Amino acid sequence: MAALSMKDLAAAAEATILRPEGLTLQQGEEGGKTRWSFQDEKPPQEEKIINDDVTMKTCTGSIGVGLFARRLLEGGSVILKSHPIAHAARGFDGARCDVCLAPVAKSVKCQGCAAVVYCGKACATSNASKDHLQNGECKAAAALPKILPTCLLAARVLRKMRADPAINKYVSALKRKSNLDGDDELQAAAQVVKQLSGETNENACASVLAVLQRNAHSVCDDELREVGVALYPRAVTAANHSCRPNIWPRFRFTVSKAPVLEYAVLSSVEANKELTHEYADLLDEHRRESLRKNYGFVCACDECAFASKAREAARTQLRAKRDAMEAALKKEEWESAATLAEDVARLEGFWAPGHPYTALHRLRCAKLQNLVGNETAAQVHIMLALVRLVISHGKESSLAKEAADMQARVIHKREGRTLVEDASSDDDYDWRKGMRPW
Ligand SMILES: [Zn+2]
Ligand SMILES: [Zn+2]
Ligand SMILES: [Zn+2]
Repeated sequence: MAALSMKDLAAAAEATILRPEGLTLQQGEEGGKTRWSFQDEKPPQEEKIINDDVTMKTCTGSIGVGLFARRLLEGGSVILKSHPIAHAARGFDGARCDVCLAPVAKSVKCQGCAAVVYCGKACATSNASKDHLQNGECKAAAALPKILPTCLLAARVLRKMRADPAINKYVSALKRKSNLDGDDELQAAAQVVKQLSGETNENACASVLAVLQRNAHSVCDDELREVGVALYPRAVTAANHSCRPNIWPRFRFTVSKAPVLEYAVLSSVEANKELTHEYADLLDEHRRESLRKNYGFVCACDECAFASKAREAARTQLRAKRDAMEAALKKEEWESAATLAEDVARLEGFWAPGHPYTALHRLRCAKLQNLVGNETAAQVHIMLALVRLVISHGKESSLAKEAADMQARVIHKREGRTLVEDASSDDDYDWRKGMRPW
């Protein structure tokens, strides 16, 4: 394939996707066969109102339900909030606290097993940790080799099902929609879940694992790295996938509490429009295949169904630029990383408006431009990062605060006056902080 110029790439990123007026194209799977359906954009049937902002409605037969806006929703507003039914830690960079999913520096180990750790005394003495000791999970965990987070989650879901008829009903409803053809791996995992949960029926364990395969939610930190896995109620997980999502799940972490899932609106959504989020990386060339494999549908969002060849070629080159940038970051080649990061920033039209990746990327651009001594460029990036982080992550998020702090430092350095007290010395600020690839 001939290399496209930066200008061609930028044009492809900005081009609007053309799709036939007034028509929604949907593609589903049934018995291994792809099924297409076309429909007018009239609101689907069987509405279930969730709150003032959101309603759940049936889409076409093979797609199931989806979430829809009940009124005009502004970017940055939070439309759904929920505690998990159960959760388990999954550290990408080492252990995470079993209760609040915080990174564990000086770990407080569980008294009885090596399967869980806590971030400190508050979590180690919380009700959740007491439950773990008293309900038999700890004793069973101590007798098992390394336990997968999903097995721990499945065992916790099974305990909740036994204790709460509503949860039992909910998971059973999910079961009916899951494909229960288990493989050997699933059967081995079911054995582990059986021991951890005290559930005597091995099939019940296998079917909860199958339910979680499709319905468990990744819990991510502010930098979009997975730190845990959880099962949330249907109302907050019913949104369908789109490669151009308009809502985004973010998590609130509090010591001694389970992570709270919030859905933020990325850019304003008109009443009656479907609310969608993203299950796969937009730049992943295998994303449609992995969506089919993991979630059982063929993505037919506008991005997939109506994209042009030029746009796909540009996407391939954008991915190459992003990979090259991340390689340069790993080698700490700041000059070349900064140049590549500028190219990626110019192509940000590929992502949906307000997409958190673009906020994180602008923050990275700001740091890189500071490192290579281009403060004017850095300032523009910081401003854009801050505006976007407030929408995607929230004003109170650690990254929005970091961006605000960076902005104060840069202004202070330029104007030679103190705008924030603790930013009085710029020399000790490490611009490489958080410079790992996102
Ligand atoms: Zn904790
Ligand atoms: Zn334990
Ligand atoms: Zn798509």
